[in-house]
Amino acid sequence: PAIESKRLRIGMQKSGRLSIESQALLSSCGLKINLREQRLIAHVENMPIDILRVRDDDIPGLVMDGVCDLGIIGENVLEEVSLQRQIDNESADYEVLARLDFGGCRLSIAVPQEEQYQGVSSLEGKTIATTYPRLLTRYLKQQGVNARVVMLTGSVEVAPRAGLADAICDLVSTGATLEANGLKEAEVIYRSKAVLIQRKGLADAQHQKLIAKLMPRIQGVMQANE
Ligand code: ATP
Ligand code: ZN
Repeated sequence: PAIESKRLRIGMQKSGRLSIESQALLSSCGLKINLREQRLIAHVENMPIDILRVRDDDIPGLVMDGVCDLGIIGENVLEEVSLQRQIDNESADYEVLARLDFGGCRLSIAVPQEEQYQGVSSLEGKTIATTYPRLLTRYLKQQGVNARVVMLTGSVEVAPRAGLADAICDLVSTGATLEANGLKEAEVIYRSKAVLIQRKGLADAQHQKLIAKLMPRIQGVMQANE
């Protein structure tokens, strides 16, 4: 039997802060995506492409394991997963094809408003709650600070009030959430945007051709948005 030419697979967030703009970017590049049905896989009608709609946390691994050829993901998640996979001796290879013009945010350490914060040394011996333990641990190591890192996947901003931690390390865009929880931003440890990534060693000639066709369109869409 003839080998079926496989469709290019792009992983993107199903619903959340990156999903609307990820969809809009692909639509602007001419992909006709039928997203009406709440399916995991959406077929692109006019190109040999499938869209995998998943949680953002799964996207780096899907690309690094070769399940998806491309992915749209926040650098914060990409870097966190990458660091964790290196520790676990799992493949952590990828290539960044483009830094996109959405999903901008910063990963910051925040402390209670009433605290007299006097620089990173104020964090010595403290407990810090975060969803990004690897990024935070790397930062603390670089700064020579010994602090305890506690992993929380949700409600990080309430951890200090709940007595679970002295400080937090969480994503910030306006700072309103911090303020509402009695916290103030103390250190920015990572600045993030959404990126388009490709799996390393993509060999399929048809896939490469398709990507070569899409890239100038993506650049064009971003220039038009400037
Ligand atoms: P999922 O259900 O897919 O796991 P999530 O709740 O983990 O979603 P979102 O809150 O939708 O994730 O955020 C996705 C990404 O959007 C973040 O990882 C980050 O890169 C980016 N982002 C941009 N601005 C913000 C912000 N103010 N707060 C949080 N994330 C932001
Ligand atoms: Zn997530």
